[in-house]
Amino acid sequence: MNKMINKADQMSGISKFPMTINGQTVISDDYSEITNPSTGETVGFSPIATIKDLDAAVAAANAAKTDYALLPDATRKQYCRDAATAIEANSAELSQLLTLEQGKPLKGLGSEFELGGCAAWMNAAADFDLPVKIIQEDDNGRIEQHRVPIGVIGSITPWNWPLMIAVWHIAPALRAGNCIIIKPSPLTPLSSLRMIEIIASIFPQGVVNIVADGDDIGPAMTAHSGIDKIIFTGSIGTGKHIMRNASDTLKRLTLELGGNDAGIVLPDADPAAIAEGLFWGAFINNGQTCAAMKRLYVHDDIYDDVCEQLSNFATKIPMGDGMDENNILGPIQNKMQFDIVKNLVDDAVSNGAKILTGGQPIEGAGYFYPITLVAEATSGMAIVDKEQFGPTLPIIRYHDLDDAIAQANGLDFGLAASVWSSDADKAQAVAAQLEAGTVYINKHGEVAPHVPFGGIKSSGFGVEFGIEGLEACTNIKIYNIAN
Ligand code: NAD
Repeated sequence: MNKMINKADQMSGISKFPMTINGQTVISDDYSEITNPSTGETVGFSPIATIKDLDAAVAAANAAKTDYALLPDATRKQYCRDAATAIEANSAELSQLLTLEQGKPLKGLGSEFELGGCAAWMNAAADFDLPVKIIQEDDNGRIEQHRVPIGVIGSITPWNWPLMIAVWHIAPALRAGNCIIIKPSPLTPLSSLRMIEIIASIFPQGVVNIVADGDDIGPAMTAHSGIDKIIFTGSIGTGKHIMRNASDTLKRLTLELGGNDAGIVLPDADPAAIAEGLFWGAFINNGQTCAAMKRLYVHDDIYDDVCEQLSNFATKIPMGDGMDENNILGPIQNKMQFDIVKNLVDDAVSNGAKILTGGQPIEGAGYFYPITLVAEATSGMAIVDKEQFGPTLPIIRYHDLDDAIAQANGLDFGLAASVWSSDADKAQAVAAQLEAGTVYINKHGEVAPHVPFGGIKSSGFGVEFGIEGLEACTNIKIYNIAN
């Protein structure tokens, strides 16, 4: 049975992280050990919530929701701004914790960058307005359309960008007047537990709650009658489970699922000029990014040149323990993903692909796998057809642009895609034919708080960010008033 944390536990147990439920720190009898993927060393212990903990969080959120929903918009905006300020003030502690449990470097596009994103998305949520729309005003009366909170929103997050994705879920939810329950990935729960503890103290009691689990609370959340909507970011398989499980309670869903983004390089592109953009489009966060480029189609005319430029760039990027500020890339976050990447590369080689750089795990502690560029990859190889979600990129040679577009669209993914060309009109014409929620031109993977983002096909449905992402955390309510 879980109990409230007491002061002595708090003082002595620096490595035992509490949950936050109804404004209070709650510990559990069972904990899981969280290890550093760079070293294998213990980072801390994460509580394993019981169904009673989940029920307590749901009850707290439901008890808080009416008063919170009735607060003036300006008050909720200020809470979001205060949360952004608190994230910034605690950024050093949170970045370190994130690097220790996730592996990404502190610097560059790593933990400090992620914390910067958290503050930016919190502030952006505060900037948006949800104005009342007057649909009709005449002799028959007045009809107003309002945006009202949905109620209680459950947020389920993955392990790749744990803090940023949590904020992507909760910032619009809180801004729009909902109460929330967050469940982080069991692989990276510690930084979320700490960040939410900080944020929860800013909002009224019960508005912000977090439970951590051993990977079994998600289904209970998605079936819970006290939760009105689930915002989920994670794999396609889990997304399908959630949709089935949420059907009995007719829950609203936003599903941000896996991607297998194609990049298409046209023959007029300049290989030297695009190499850096291609590299980071594929390897931001070591490739462990939903909207990273995961297969690259290059025209035969410049194929060898692009391969050479990319390889040259890749060999300059230091990889190692994220706490060492010289490292720009870290390890793969967990053993399962490490094995997926290794097996996909081995399979590609056994089917005739060629390794340009990397190709073998790095010996020693940690889940280190080098940047691995796989040339002469073809459709039908698992490394092309599946989401690798790690530091490897298959490069596919094409001769006919229509064929490359057909291959890019031929898989059941639709998160993002990109076109690389020196000719803006040609690039735009190709972009128009690509099936994806976002198509980039001469870049890949950028997201911003004011730009709606979401997948099509099996990459999910619904959008986050922008006014549309905020509206997704509301219901429409009509006031139809007689004259
Ligand atoms: P995952 O689906 O294994 O787990 C995600 C979360 O779901 C975890 O918190 C997990 O505990 C929980 N979960 C597991 N089973 C559940 C169930 N039956 N019901 C409810 N919750 C359940 O994903 P992951 O391995 O943590 O993350 C990697 C995947 O996430 C990749 O496919 C990646 O592309 C995707 N992703 C998508 C986006 C996007 O915006 N589209 C962003 C980041 C990651």
